Amino acid sequence: MAGDAPMNLDWLIIGGGVHGVHIATRLIVDAEVPAERLGIVDPGRHLLERWQDCTATTGMTHLRSPSVHHLDIEPMALQKFAGNRRRRGKGLFAAPFERPSLKLFNAHCESLTRDLGLEERQIRCRAETCSPDDEGVTVVLSDGRTVRARSVVLAMGAGDQPLRPEWIPDDHPGVHHVFERGFSSWPSTDETTLLVGGGISAGHVALRLVAEGHRIHLISRHAIREHRFDSDPGWLGPKYTADFHREPDHDRRRQVITRARNRGSMPPEMGRAVRRAISRGDIQWHEGEVVDFADRAGRISIRTNAGSDLTVDRILLATGFASRRPGGSMIDELVRSASLPCASCGYPIVDHALRWHPRIHVSGPLAELELGPVSRNIAGARRAGDRIVAAARESHEAMRSAG
Ligand SMILES: Cc1cc2nc3c(=O)[nH]c(=O)nc-3n(C[C@H](O)[C@H](O)[C@H](O)COP(=O)(O)OP(=O)(O)OC[C@H]3O[C@@H](n4cnc5c(N)ncnc54)[C@H](O)[C@@H]3O)c2cc1C
Repeated sequence: MAGDAPMNLDWLIIGGGVHGVHIATRLIVDAEVPAERLGIVDPGRHLLERWQDCTATTGMTHLRSPSVHHLDIEPMALQKFAGNRRRRGKGLFAAPFERPSLKLFNAHCESLTRDLGLEERQIRCRAETCSPDDEGVTVVLSDGRTVRARSVVLAMGAGDQPLRPEWIPDDHPGVHHVFERGFSSWPSTDETTLLVGGGISAGHVALRLVAEGHRIHLISRHAIREHRFDSDPGWLGPKYTADFHREPDHDRRRQVITRARNRGSMPPEMGRAVRRAISRGDIQWHEGEVVDFADRAGRISIRTNAGSDLTVDRILLATGFASRRPGGSMIDELVRSASLPCASCGYPIVDHALRWHPRIHVSGPLAELELGPVSRNIAGARRAGDRIVAAARESHEAMRSAG
């Protein structure tokens, strides 16, 4: 999308990640929104940039989620896309649950965005302010342009807020988060490296470094926790969601989400691989909290509450993303100016259609108090798609009957 004239759209999606791309797909295909009436604001060089960068950094070969969780419409679309390749290539899917390879998943996303012309719908900017009224939403972009849309979907994930533990000083040159934008600070094999984290990302990065010939230190606040998925699959259906939706108190919903999430966990086969690397001596395992951090002429000394002292050349953080509400000052200002309801954790209180305001829907972390613990994942994008499409159809129907 180009040109300096103010843009008028039916739907504007803020965030071109997994969630934004899936919602755009659903609006175009299922709700029959003409593609040229939809825009996706995202500052990335291309759609899905954060997804591709973060997953590539970990070195993961397969997704954690099953093959029915993808960005297209039909549940079997990814299996169908694999088609003849299945005969050619081994490893397209991994057991259990037919988890797709990252390469296959990304090729499927690329084919989907190409077929729907979604790259042409990207507006390569940040959305800076978002002001709703009865008729629509005015969004001011980082290049000064303005978009006026009848409806907006806020689909900015947590990808812009990698979590840095409190004991790390800001901007220390020897410390990097593996999910920071443009991360490329891999150590050389003669450096001593400490990797921080105890979940699936830390597991992936640890095994990647070991495979590349490194011997590393790995510190986690807890023992290795094994879970197949990051929340129980019962959260994908009524087994758990029925009670969740009956709970009117959003602070209690937050407690349920926190308990349901297997934070800092890894699938069993990864747990076994990490343990094997520990017993071979490729990974030196430390369990505890860092209580002291000191810069010693370019090297870093840390002390843990378990009494370990370590001196390293580099620290890599694989500590995931901060749990605070995403969207930064734009969302803070929107909440204030439009008096939007929030729970005490700061997250939106939305209706069944994920509407935070008659003109604003949410997806991803922002939809968590309505969709539950799967909200951030691909499955959550699909759930959000169901609800937003149903609302879009209803409002098109109402417009048609109003003449
Ligand atoms: C390594 C890794 C592996 C994962 N594996 C799986 C898996 O196997 N299965 C699964 O279901 N889930 C998985 N997830 C979880 C989840 O599906 C991903 O994190 C996914 O990328 C989240 O998508 P998103 O669209 O919410 O956020 P993001 O990918 O962060 O995209 C949001 C986009 O919004 C943009 N944005 C933010 N603010 C603004 C603004 N103001 N204006 C314009 N644009 C803005 C950002 O630049 C970004 O491009 C994984 C996550 C990681 C990190």
